[in-house]
Amino acid sequence: MNKPQIVLYFPVPLDVLRLLQEHFHVTSFDRVDSSNRDAFLEAVFEADGLIGMGLPVPTGDLRGARRLKAIATISTGYDAFDVAELTSQQVILMNLYDPLTETTADLAFSLILATGRRIAELDHRVREGQWTHAVTRGWFGLDIHGKTLGIVGMGRIGAAIARRGALGFGMRVLYTARSPKPDVDAAYGACKCALDELLAVSDFVCLVVPLTDDTRHLIGSRELSLMKPSAILVNIARGPVVDEMALVDALKSGTIHGAGLDVYEVEPLPVDSGLLEMRNVVLAPHIGSATAETRDAMARYAAHSLVGFLTRGEVRNVVNPEAMS
Ligand code: NAP
Repeated sequence: MNKPQIVLYFPVPLDVLRLLQEHFHVTSFDRVDSSNRDAFLEAVFEADGLIGMGLPVPTGDLRGARRLKAIATISTGYDAFDVAELTSQQVILMNLYDPLTETTADLAFSLILATGRRIAELDHRVREGQWTHAVTRGWFGLDIHGKTLGIVGMGRIGAAIARRGALGFGMRVLYTARSPKPDVDAAYGACKCALDELLAVSDFVCLVVPLTDDTRHLIGSRELSLMKPSAILVNIARGPVVDEMALVDALKSGTIHGAGLDVYEVEPLPVDSGLLEMRNVVLAPHIGSATAETRDAMARYAAHSLVGFLTRGEVRNVVNPEAMS
């Protein structure tokens, strides 16, 4: 029997490549850019499935891919895809469920700690030879333990951050979500509240919502003005959840104390970004899930999803089940 054809457009570990090759004819691209975009699309037009992180071309460019049945994205977020367009082409999109939850929550807490305790800024000062006497108030940070942690989006990662905050750091946890989370309330003494209230009382506000039409620029100048001047904003969701220009203004004017960011409106962060000039900001290069163990587990998970669907018709974590009807 002929094996299905697939296109792999992100580097994966050897065992994952072998698994894919066992079941499929694999055309692989380590990266897709203007130099190989045409070759990529040519391969996609012959493919039954795609696997990679995000999508390196606009979803509409897949229209000529008449055999395409499924895409397995090596991510939980799927804002890189036009889901309605895929559904109209009857292409199913499968994302990840679990392998990156705890790792991404670790990164959120790293940003909370690094920003609150000014680790990156003070590291820089030490390297510059500015540590010439015992530190005084000008170098002090903020306590994290015992403070109020506001989590915007209480899903898988939100709950993992809540656990760290409540059980590890004795923090009071507030959150927003579309539906109540009685398990999280019971386990961590967390309370669901309105966004404005969460912003007004939290010492650390952590954004963990998916990027959708409802959450684009969820945090703008009005929302930032509700936060305490001592508060820190952490964004590990997606860049456009925050109006970045409003954030730069709020940081410059002292409306809020600082920010820990993993995601940006434009990635990689442009070299002229106002954020680069700010000392009270910790900037990570979108590394929420970027540990070797987790990235390998994510690739493995997505590969098994694609194998399950294209060889046995099994579906898991389908974003657009209506595409199957
Ligand atoms: P999830 O389990 O689907 O949780 C999303 C949460 O957001 C849910 O609690 C949902 O509420 C809530 N939500 C959705 N729309 C909302 C709105 N308009 N207002 C308030 N809450 C809203 O997803 P997850 O696995 O925790 O991941 C969350 C996001 O993190 C992903 O979509 C991705 O963009 C981002 N992420 C980033 C990285 C990184 O590398 N920085 C890594 C992984 C994920 P309900 O439960 O009530 O529906």
